[in-house]
Amino acid sequence: MPFTFDNTYARLPDAFFKRIAPAPVGAPVMIRLNDSLAAELGIDVAELASPTGLAILSGNQQADGSEPLAMAYSGHQFGGFSPQLGDGRAILLGEIVGNDGVRRDVQLKGSGPTPFSRRGDGRSALGPVLREYIISEAMAALGVPTTRALAVVASGDHVVREGMMPGGVFTRVAQSHIRIGTFQWFAARQDLDNLRVLADYVIARHYPALQQEENPYLALLNKVIERQARLIAHWIQLGFIHGVMNTDNMTVSGETIDYGPCAFMDTYHPAKTFSSIDHQGRYAFGNQGPIGQWNLTRFAETLLPLLHADQNTAIAMAEAALDTFTDLHQTALQTRFAARIGLEPDHADDWSLVESLLQAMADGKADFTLVFRHLATALDSGSDDTVTRLFNQPTAIVAWMNVWRTRLQHVGRSQSLALMRSTNPVYIPRNHRIEEAIKAGNAGDFKPFHRLNQVLQHPFTEQADCSEYEAAPAPDEVVHATFCGT
Ligand code: AMP
Ligand code: MG
Repeated sequence: MPFTFDNTYARLPDAFFKRIAPAPVGAPVMIRLNDSLAAELGIDVAELASPTGLAILSGNQQADGSEPLAMAYSGHQFGGFSPQLGDGRAILLGEIVGNDGVRRDVQLKGSGPTPFSRRGDGRSALGPVLREYIISEAMAALGVPTTRALAVVASGDHVVREGMMPGGVFTRVAQSHIRIGTFQWFAARQDLDNLRVLADYVIARHYPALQQEENPYLALLNKVIERQARLIAHWIQLGFIHGVMNTDNMTVSGETIDYGPCAFMDTYHPAKTFSSIDHQGRYAFGNQGPIGQWNLTRFAETLLPLLHADQNTAIAMAEAALDTFTDLHQTALQTRFAARIGLEPDHADDWSLVESLLQAMADGKADFTLVFRHLATALDSGSDDTVTRLFNQPTAIVAWMNVWRTRLQHVGRSQSLALMRSTNPVYIPRNHRIEEAIKAGNAGDFKPFHRLNQVLQHPFTEQADCSEYEAAPAPDEVVHATFCGT
């Protein structure tokens, strides 16, 4: 058996989930197995690659020790509260404890209907499965906390979306799938007992050190705020737009979750959105920090009865905790962006240097990733041309680079280069390359998918014959919208 399950969520009260087994698929084929992740997690790779492994990862066979269930959760979607969401197309198979001692969920996505599916079919098209695999593994390689991709299975069945599409089953691994929306589920039902059970469970599972704190629930709130403030700064610094930052898509572990209508920006603009359903730009690139804080405020509201018996005192505690978000987020942003231009974050003025660079990029319609990458090239070669040619009109960036070079004189050149090379990726999962991999995959050719994944495993290292993965899209290749694909 590939997995040695050791389940704890299934021991929680019934109100936390509905027990449901995956529904079988017609003709499963293993498209990709993440060997290195499996090995890291202490999973027997050979077992996972065997016919039994395929049967388990497609939902056709129940693994020993699996106690499949669909988790209950609520959530604010685009600002409106939905009390009844839950895993509608995902089933938790069970938990494993990795070689690192960390407990993780193993979950199938697209494995059939659950009591939470309501109108949905509980299935997934293959395209979104390939997409989640590519982006979550790219995020991991870039060093961003994220859920992971263990496997992609083509189901052999078709799902009805915009026409008939080939179906897929995705295996997701996460430190847990507990979201802000999980807390909202119990808060909305005024189920204080189970809210406390959930909070105690999260503390024990994710933040055991907080059990020693005088007020562990306040410590939990602070910890989640800190993790999310840093996580969102990490996304922003890489030009990543999550696209659907609903409270059900925000984990309490601080891992990025739910790669639906997300995207890495090509041309920089702070108001950029890709999601085909985000008409108001609620989850635009530059809104992600404030939206994160908004979501954490919803989290804090659920915790109020646990924070203090007196409601006003509880509110004051929550407000003080939420007030720390802006500083934590801004400090993380400044540190990360400073590194991208070769600086240790030790000067207050450096942030205005970053801001003026971003402004020049927005005005000059420059490619976000290439600008940072070629700042290192420029520092190395002494010529600014590799950078300035990325801009529509070079005046602002030429002036900026003079200021920047003057500032860099106070830092060792090799130190700056090292900082920049370790923080400015050469390869990001560009939208047009993802689309290309999906299109080929839908036609049964997975070579572009595999090659893209391979390149993205080493995002900071220039690789031979990979320039097409580095380049910005040509005008006719630009992807303007991404989809949930459910
Ligand atoms: P998401 O867009 O992934 O955050 O999902 C929002 C909600 O819709 C969750 O409760 C999902 O479980 C549910 N959902 C999404 N796609 C499907 C589907 N194909 N079948 C059933 N439920 C779905
Ligand atoms: Mg979701």
